[in-house]
This record gives sequence, C-alpha cells and structure tokens, in this order.
Amino acid sequence: MEPIMHQVWPRVFQRLHRTLILPKRNHSGCAEHTAVPASTHSRHIRPTLLVSRLYQPSNLRDVGQDTRLQGEMTCKSQRLMLQAGLIHPSNPGCYYYLPATVRSMEKLVRVIDQEMQGIGGQKLDMPSLCTADLWKTSERWDLMGKELLRLKDRHGVDYCLGPTHEEAVTTLVAHQANLSYRHFPLLLYQITRKFRDEPKPKFGLLRGREFYMKDMYSFDVSEEAAYQTYESVCQAYTRLFARLGLHCVQVQADTGNIGGKLSHEFQLPADIGEDRLLLCGNCPFSANVETLSSDRTDCPQCKTGTLVESKGIEVGHTFYLGKKYSKVFNATFTNAQNKLSIAEMGCYGLGVTRILAAAIEVMSTEEEIRWPGLLAPYQVCVLPPKKGSKMDEVAVLAEDLVHILGEALPRLRGEVVLDDRTHMTIGKRLKDASRLGYPYVIVVGQSASEETPRFEVICQRTGETMFLSRDGLLDLLGGVEIV
Ligand code: ATP
Ligand code: MG
Repeated sequence: MEPIMHQVWPRVFQRLHRTLILPKRNHSGCAEHTAVPASTHSRHIRPTLLVSRLYQPSNLRDVGQDTRLQGEMTCKSQRLMLQAGLIHPSNPGCYYYLPATVRSMEKLVRVIDQEMQGIGGQKLDMPSLCTADLWKTSERWDLMGKELLRLKDRHGVDYCLGPTHEEAVTTLVAHQANLSYRHFPLLLYQITRKFRDEPKPKFGLLRGREFYMKDMYSFDVSEEAAYQTYESVCQAYTRLFARLGLHCVQVQADTGNIGGKLSHEFQLPADIGEDRLLLCGNCPFSANVETLSSDRTDCPQCKTGTLVESKGIEVGHTFYLGKKYSKVFNATFTNAQNKLSIAEMGCYGLGVTRILAAAIEVMSTEEEIRWPGLLAPYQVCVLPPKKGSKMDEVAVLAEDLVHILGEALPRLRGEVVLDDRTHMTIGKRLKDASRLGYPYVIVVGQSASEETPRFEVICQRTGETMFLSRDGLLDLLGGVEIV
C-alpha cells in the first residue's frame, strides 16, 4: 500500500519543484536552470522536460563529411536520424541509439509485446554468446560463413555472437524433460541485439552489423497445428503493422539457410528497398523475385493478372521449420498417447531497429521526420513566446499548461516537452519541432491569456492548425493513444 504521505504531498512538491526546475531569469534577463537536488524528487513528480536539456545533439556534423560513414551508402532515414540527434555513428554498421530513439524503440517493443503476448507468446532472454558446439550440431557453423561473428574465450573455446537463436531455443526446450502436448502451442520470443558481419553495412539502422530483432520460436504437436500457429503469427504481424500505420505486404519468400518449407516476408514498399517484389495487379498474390523464375510476368495464382515489380524493405520474416532443428537437438514432448514425439517448429523475426528506420524512411519528407503516431518519442511540444516579445507575460501559461496536461491526462506524463529556448523566435522553434516530428505542437500566444484561453495547436499528421480552448485541447490529447 502507498503510504498516506505520498497522497498528500504531491502538490506541495510540485510547487517546490516548479520553482526549482523551470527556467528563471538571471540578472541579464537570460533563462537559467537550477538543478534540482535528488532528495527533492518525489517519485510522483517528473521534472518538466525542457528542450534545452534533452540530449539530442542535432546538426553536429554534415553526414557527408563524417569519416566514420565514408564508404557507407546513405539514405533519407539515416540522414534525418543523424541530423535530428537520434543516432550517432560508432563504427561500421554500429550506432549509438540516443535517448529519443530509445524512447521510440521502447514504445515499439511495448507494441510488439502486446501483439506477441496477445497470441500466447512468452518473453524470455537468451545469451548472445553462443557456443560453436551448438552451431556445429545444426551445421550452421560452416553454412553461415563470414556473416557469423566468431570469437574465442580465454580457454580457447569457440563462440559466436548470436545472429538468430534457433539452436539456442531448441536446445533449451529439449532440456525440459516433462514437456507434454498440454504445453503446446509453445511460443517463446525475445527482443535482443543480434550480430551479423554484414559484408556492406549501409543505410543506417536499416542494415547494421549489430541491431535489435524480435525472434519468436513456436513448438507444436503436429504439422497441422504448426501451420495454425504460423497463420496466427502472420495475423499478429499484420495487426502490428496496421497499428503502426505501415502498409506492409506479405510476400512468399525463400527459406534461405534457416531451412524449412514455408516462408513469408513482410515487406515495406520503398525505393531504397533491397528486395525485389512481384505483386499481382489482379489478386493478392505477391512474391519475392527469388522465389519465381526471373522472367515470369504472369501471376501463378489467378493466371490472368500481370506481375508488377516493386522494391521493398524486409521488416519481418516468418518460417515454418518442421522438424529441422527439433530432430537434431531432440526437442521431444509426450503426446496424447503418452509416447515421445518430436516437436514441429516455426520461427518468426521482426527487425526492431529496421522497422524504426524504415518507418521514418517511408513516412518522412526530405526535411521533416514523420513517426508512426504510436512511436513518436514525445507526443507534444509546447512553445512559449520569445523572451522580450510583447507576449512575454504569457510564458508562465505555457509552463502551467504542461502541468495541467500532466495532471488531467496522466498518460501524457513524460510525453510533453517545453521548448524553453525562448531566446529563439517562435518560427525557428516551430521549424525545429516539425523537423523532429512531434505529432502535436502547441503555441502559447496572446490568446492563451484571454478570459477563455485559446491555444494554437498544430497537428503534424493532418497539417491542420486549430485554436482550442483548454477543454478542447484536453479532449484532443485525451484521444491520443500512448503505448
Ligand atoms: P536481409 O535479407 O535484409 O539481409 P535476412 O533475411 O537475412 O535479412 P532474417 O534472418 O530473416 O534477415 O532476420 C529477421 C529480420 O531481422 C529481418 O526481416 C530484418 O527485418 C531484420 N534484419 C536482418 N538483418 C538485419 C540487419 N543487418 N540490420 C537490421 N535489421 C536486420
Ligand atoms: Mg529474411
């Protein structure tokens, strides 16, 4: 139970806190910030997020001049993400994910968790350091070639950094002695860093050597049950991309070195996509060209339609694996007849960091980032007037507004930033705000001090500017889905 004190104190703390954290004028009239001593933080109170304090180093360097990116092909999402202080290059194919990106990624992870757990997925976390023995058992130690990042420990034992985890998860399940058909379908997934020594890392987070992937593995009693599970995962992927507002196509795909009989890719059509797709103009048939003979132009499904080529970014991949891994690692269960049987498997990947970059790639303009609404790092940016302007006195209303929003709409806490760089004009800050892609920007001007205060609200998705009362504003923002 919460101690009573915490329920009584928040307002008092909030006052105290506001006087400490919000910018004050120093004798020269410039804004200055006072750090709040850690001891004054109640766990109920979040500091106002001030744009001047966010670690989002923008425009540090011209992308073309950065030596760490020399030789790397660049693209729009990468350029926008570098310029907006979302990522920073480290070494080829590896990036620092800066705070705004981490916020966005955490949101994406929550949406993925909801969808995977919605079909019965259970989250775990497997070691990235995988022994060569496991990979030799499946024969992929040799098959993967140079893409596998290999290393030796101090005892001379060979390891690789996991690029995917079929071997690891199957051996885990094989170690469970009392597994029965009652546990099935068993869906295990993780969202972790994966490592691949890509020959040509490029396009920022779209093709890295170290990246986040969601990988799920399914275990079923029979081939028929495995196909049902496969179908339910594909449906969950379709729902996920729809929630993000991404128009992905599910195409028939090659099974590659993962093996198995049935496979689909979820492709986001984009000019810089590295996959070539053939889409039927007449029916839903769509395929990666790798699965068809290269000169094919007629649709194999409806026979009448013509296949049209398009490029796509592969954001997800599903495989029906059958018994390929379960046989090798002896992943068995007790069936309804009380006999030992080998599990049927499937595996399902989603490129978490690639989805973020791909969404920015297809949704943004050349100058301004557009996020899928659910994934925007912050939902709202509040702009007080320029210091020294006629409207100076309404600045405090902007600060109040941030607190009112937090109190009236608790879900928005942590989602509202105050652009306190009041030495800059509104126009300049508005430009920054649209560059960073806040879904809602609120300009606090003279009309905010009228008897019925009105706020100028710019909705990035529709491009609409509205003048709303406080209630109107609460109505609008109350409807924003926060994940
Ligand atoms: P690609 O053909 O693009 O190299 P893949 O088919 O080798 O990808 P999978 O093994 O199917 O990739 O991995 C599952 C998902 O992980 C992919 O659908 C993709 O979204 C993501 N992914 C794969 N490689 C990378 C990478 N180098 N950087 C970022 N994401 C990646
Ligand atoms: Mg793939």
